[in-house]
Amino acid sequence: MLEIPRVEKLGKNLDGYYGETIDIRAVLRDIELAAAAHGWAAEVFHSAQGFDWVALRLPPRVPDRRKLIHISAGTHGDEPAGPLAALKLIQENRWPDNVEVLLLPCLNPLGFLLNQRANADGIDLNRDYRNPRSAETRQHIAWLEKQPEFDLYLCLHEDWESNGFYLYEQNPDQRASWADAMIAAVAPICPVDLSENIEGRPAQGGIIRPANTLAERPDWPEALYQITHKSRQGYTLEAPSDFPLDARVNAITAAVVAAVHGLANGAPSGRPPVLVGEAKAPRASGV
Ligand SMILES: [Zn+2]
Repeated sequence: MLEIPRVEKLGKNLDGYYGETIDIRAVLRDIELAAAAHGWAAEVFHSAQGFDWVALRLPPRVPDRRKLIHISAGTHGDEPAGPLAALKLIQENRWPDNVEVLLLPCLNPLGFLLNQRANADGIDLNRDYRNPRSAETRQHIAWLEKQPEFDLYLCLHEDWESNGFYLYEQNPDQRASWADAMIAAVAPICPVDLSENIEGRPAQGGIIRPANTLAERPDWPEALYQITHKSRQGYTLEAPSDFPLDARVNAITAAVVAAVHGLANGAPSGRPPVLVGEAKAPRASGV
């Protein structure tokens, strides 16, 4: 039986994110150095206001049965755990031999300068993937269009209203799911949100499986672009911002490692999690 983590809510984030902020320039510099040290190639696909938007590529050590994974972070500038998890994933270097990883560690650096969800023009990038208005999303999509299809996409996010970690699964072909393995990996590190309703959608054990009709909405998050154009399976990870930053970074990192190793090994791993949580009302914001 898993121990229930003693990580507790901070009670800071009452109508927005008031937790730790990061020096995004320093974090991106650390990411660049760590990536170079571990054999990643870097491609700049957009530049503005002194920042380069970088796509990092880790080639597979064993090209046989190669699995291609796209990981994005830093879409919302008030969600520091994503870029920090990207850094930790590069530094820990726990990638299976047969995976090729495309890692975009920060899609919204200007939002981080302002500690705000949206970009500098007030556009929520994660609502901008159907008819993109922002340069950030247009350039990301232009770069995506040049890539082959992905076996898996992972979008790294946080939710300041959440009572625990949760994730969205897109898996229309009913492939082997890595959702349970991710939740099992997170549970010893960070509470999981066991509400039966998260963000106005039915949830079970910290997992939301949105209905396919979501693709009809006009304001696509990145996940809907990915599942429509680039991949047949993916997850949006949501760490709870009202918990200590370390716990959120470790939770996201553990979930990514669980999904990547599951995909590489080709069979679901992990066990049914034993978790705690509390029910709560639907909310309007998020992802
Ligand atoms: Zn987010």
